[in-house]
Amino acid sequence: MSNRNFGQAGEFDSACKIAGDSTGTGYVRRLMAVLVLCLAVGLLGCVSAVAALEIHFLDVGQGDAAVVLCDGKVMMIDGGKPESSQFIYSYLTGTLGLSRIDVMILSHPHSDHAGGLSAALSACRTERILTPMYYYDDPAFLRFRDLAAERNLFFEMPLAGTKRMFGAAEISFLAPYKLYGDTNDSSIVMRLDYGRTSFLFTGDAEIPEEVEILERCPELLRADVLKVGHHGSSTSSGEAFLEAVRPEIALMGVGAGNTYGHPALDVLQRFREKETQVYRTDLHGTVVLFSDGNTISVRTERTPENQESVYTLSWGGYLGEVPEEHPAADYYVGNVKSRRFHLPECEGAVKMSEKNRTRFETREEAIQAGYQPCGGCKP
Ligand SMILES: [Zn+2]
Ligand SMILES: [Zn+2]
Repeated sequence: MSNRNFGQAGEFDSACKIAGDSTGTGYVRRLMAVLVLCLAVGLLGCVSAVAALEIHFLDVGQGDAAVVLCDGKVMMIDGGKPESSQFIYSYLTGTLGLSRIDVMILSHPHSDHAGGLSAALSACRTERILTPMYYYDDPAFLRFRDLAAERNLFFEMPLAGTKRMFGAAEISFLAPYKLYGDTNDSSIVMRLDYGRTSFLFTGDAEIPEEVEILERCPELLRADVLKVGHHGSSTSSGEAFLEAVRPEIALMGVGAGNTYGHPALDVLQRFREKETQVYRTDLHGTVVLFSDGNTISVRTERTPENQESVYTLSWGGYLGEVPEEHPAADYYVGNVKSRRFHLPECEGAVKMSEKNRTRFETREEAIQAGYQPCGGCKP
């Protein structure tokens, strides 16, 4: 019942209408839902209007995960890394109070997208799963596939060029047209239209896939909100693509101080030139978008000190600066109290008491554990 709209072909060309949800029980239901949401997501603040579409772009560090709620229907797009599993589970069942997901979409099988989806499957009875491919040799993906099979769920590949209804929202699948050698370029790219508002989800699509969409359906690219491809890497968000989308809002799923250098300087520069409002999970935490079909409002978990910082690199440098070189070390020493990490030879490490000392094998490991680099030895 819950997935009827989504499953049927033939509804694809019907005009997207907002259901008459501003009066009667639908309104009360939405109001209740929003009030519950406000209580549950106290840190995100309360919303001023009753919006029938909500997009929760979750802070899963270096990865992507989004939950879309529309007219009582639930869609999940990607689930972050395996390390995000607990957060995904508690956000779905606790914060959002969900027990059902109508449609789960894995944009592509990399572990920073597939990792937390097993937790989502465990948390919520799921009706259907869309992926661009059936097989990928990665433990997180294979765990997800096995768990789906245990629940008698089989992967479906959405056809590029088709549309489906999701509540009153219309979903258009723009890509992939074929599977590329590069898994990122096989990402499911889809747009969601809700009333006059529009959202484009790109997975980790890179420039070759962007170019293919530009050639095949440029008229479907213009959107108010762009979930930026591949975490803001310079291999995505090409000039022509961004010119066609012209988003007012850009969402980037990036981990603080990530070692990939995401988002990239040139991509940030392109958004700045277009005066696109950039929201990044490393700076804003979880970002929730609300649409009533006409306007989009945004709530964030955190507010960066100044708007300019959204155009900085994830390691804290500003546009135009060259990232610091980090000296290589065999291991790093963290201080569990100060949450800073040091090179082994740094005085801060040498003099550290044994009880405060922890060891990281790599710089990335320390940063992922939430430790800041020492300002002295600059590890
Ligand atoms: Zn990714
Ligand atoms: Zn990827």
